Amino acid sequence: MIRKSMKKAVLGIVCAVFLMMSAGCSAVSSITGGGYTSDEPCAWCGETPTKEFKTSGGDPCYICEEHTHECGVCGKNFDKELNHYTNLMGIETFVCDDCYQDVQDMNQN
Ligand SMILES: [Zn+2]
Ligand SMILES: [Zn+2]
Repeated sequence: MIRKSMKKAVLGIVCAVFLMMSAGCSAVSSITGGGYTSDEPCAWCGETPTKEFKTSGGDPCYICEEHTHECGVCGKNFDKELNHYTNLMGIETFVCDDCYQDVQDMNQN
């Protein structure tokens, strides 16, 4: 009788742990949604998780969610992923619509 209930308890714990793990995983992936799943450090601040972008040279460049939403020129924060280009140091730089226009104009002159 005692052995039987022990087995049941162990099985219950295993089930509970498994459920907690799968619930925990799905919670994490919903927080870091939008492709920010890489544990490479951000090219700007070194934070993780990051998302992989390609530079104009074809190299991977990892940027955190904060730095894809903050304009690298005017410093304002936006609730969307901004336009980006590869700067002189080979790092993807994120800029808002207004500043992106300025950058394009500068590059053409
Ligand atoms: Zn960053
Ligand atoms: Zn801007």
